[in-house]
Amino acid sequence: MTPVSYFPYKNNKMFVEDIAISDIAQQVQTPFYCYSSTAIETSFQDYQLAFSNQDALVCYAVKANSNQAVLATLAKLGSGADVVSMGEIRRAITAGIPANKIVYSGVAKTQEEISYALTLGIFQFNVESEPELELISKVATSLNKTAAIAFRINPNVCAQTHEKISTGKAENKFGVPISKARLAYKQAASLPGIKVQGVDVHIGSQLTNLAPFKEAYQHIAELVVDLRADGHDISVIDVGGGLGITYLDEVIPSKQTYADLVHAQLGHLNCKIIIEPGRSLVGNAGILVSSVVFVKNGEERQFLMLDAGMNDLVRPSMYDAYHEIIAVNKSNDTLKTYDVVGPVCETGDTFAKARQVHESEAGDLIAILSSGAYGAVMSSGYNTRMLAPEVMVKGNEFAIVRKRPSYEEIIKQDITPNWL
Ligand SMILES: *Cc1c(COP(=O)(O)O)cnc(C)c1O
Repeated sequence: MTPVSYFPYKNNKMFVEDIAISDIAQQVQTPFYCYSSTAIETSFQDYQLAFSNQDALVCYAVKANSNQAVLATLAKLGSGADVVSMGEIRRAITAGIPANKIVYSGVAKTQEEISYALTLGIFQFNVESEPELELISKVATSLNKTAAIAFRINPNVCAQTHEKISTGKAENKFGVPISKARLAYKQAASLPGIKVQGVDVHIGSQLTNLAPFKEAYQHIAELVVDLRADGHDISVIDVGGGLGITYLDEVIPSKQTYADLVHAQLGHLNCKIIIEPGRSLVGNAGILVSSVVFVKNGEERQFLMLDAGMNDLVRPSMYDAYHEIIAVNKSNDTLKTYDVVGPVCETGDTFAKARQVHESEAGDLIAILSSGAYGAVMSSGYNTRMLAPEVMVKGNEFAIVRKRPSYEEIIKQDITPNWL
């Protein structure tokens, strides 16, 4: 799937499924996120097909895009969920994902969160440290429950991705070092309220190359053999998420190639396989639609000033991320070089520098592509800007799936103390 696969031009107007983006913009006002339901469904089904000859469950990584409409779309197709907080558990359950398809990751789960997950009966805790294991044991014992656990193993491999989304190196905060894994499992087996069930690994995000996965899974396979020799009943391997998407010209291995790698490295162990994709399910299923407020002729550069800012889409300023930026309606094919910036009072509020974009004027609609993952979920109200609404399209229908708050609603959240 490329950034434009589900947002093609027809007669120079950008469409999503059977609707022109400009028609939605007229009713919703910019900026807004727009998702293609079919794009999400298709990438989920690609995963299911790729893993159809393995005992595998796709647990969508909710943090990539946690809108109820996205979760319900995936729930209907049989998806499970990989969650990292009580809020995400609640979102998943509300959208119809059953508790027994939920795996719970995260480095600092609190007592309250653990208790909630145990009461629901989730499929597995992915435990990231010994203190967390002890807390889970304590909470489970007090509730008279048993927690099925896997340790998240840090295999010390380099994911060859941006340092802020690399998680499998020894210096990262995630997981239990592989060198200490056997000891950790020994401890787990001795604790009340704990059932050792599996092994988990997640080395990072936006991987464009399978080699780091291969290296990690080789280490995991050896570990499973050792753990079984130690007497542990290992029946689940959670291989994490992290398969990348095409933002510009990255060539991403197909889901089938990835599934074949998983099978080649881990198939002989006869475990149930959990896959936790986030970005690769929703990233190229969404765009951020914005309007040009001004075209400003600076001394050295031309600025395209948008009504969307870093508060709406933080990836360029946070991860130096590249997003394609193109006109929604092409009136001509002339390209001009712009710095594309937002209205927020931060120099970091820049979507692209010296970028070729269709020549634009104030009022024109602009699409920032590949924004379906880590877009809306990371947005904030900085500069007292309203959270951008989210729209989902299916065929010739569209629905506002998160509305734009009013200023009254935003200001009402503050409480003036009674001494003022
Ligand atoms: C973020 C995350 C994922 C999803 O990563 P993607 O790169 O979006 O596929 C999966 N598992 C865990 C534990 C994560 O933290």
